[in-house]
Amino acid sequence: KDFNSFDLAAPLLKALEEAGYTTPTPIQQQAIKPAAEGRDILGIAQTGTGKTAAFALPLLDRIARNRIARPGHSTRVLVLAPTRELANQIAESFRTYGAGIHIKVETVFGGVPINRQIRAMKAGADVLVATPGRLMDLIDQGAMTLSKVEALVLDEADQMLDLGFIHALRKIVPMLPKTRQTLFFSATMPKSIADLAAVYLTNPVKVSV
Ligand code: AMP
Repeated sequence: KDFNSFDLAAPLLKALEEAGYTTPTPIQQQAIKPAAEGRDILGIAQTGTGKTAAFALPLLDRIARNRIARPGHSTRVLVLAPTRELANQIAESFRTYGAGIHIKVETVFGGVPINRQIRAMKAGADVLVATPGRLMDLIDQGAMTLSKVEALVLDEADQMLDLGFIHALRKIVPMLPKTRQTLFFSATMPKSIADLAAVYLTNPVKVSV
């Protein structure tokens, strides 16, 4: 199977061609179709497997097909990741794959001054990639609008728990609309992660590589 079999919007296929991707990786083969159909996903996959495109492509496809006129760019896709490095990589992937569809992708993470991030959040972003601690700070400052989030991605959930982000997750996730899609990825699935996934996911499609 190649990428054309997923019925992705034309600008996404063009971006993939420009990136030199020809064959979907196994996690992409399993996850793209159900995710594009709106299903929740429970993915067990390490970095390097192509998991970023596995969640970014179907979510970008939804944005490409269903442009919503909104005041500013209220966030439609929220991605939570454990580290600044991973957040930057994920944002770069969304920008690369979404190059043809006019979206704004922002990152927020700790360890840098918060003021620029507050301004960026007031201006809005279609896709926001955040570490949970800094996102929590921005929420506390009243800088965030998360009421229009259609899809939540938790990437490297096991790392987020290891880094102590559970309290931030417990505050952030309940602020999101209840009718949303959730895509949950973790390299490992100990009981603590499985329990968290069970709370956040509804009838998920399980994919693992
Ligand atoms: P990830 O696991 O999402 O961090 O992706 C690992 C690397 O694989 C990244 O450098 C991607 O650009 C690349 N990649 C992802 N999917 C594909 C694909 N289908 N074909 C070629 N390279 C890919």
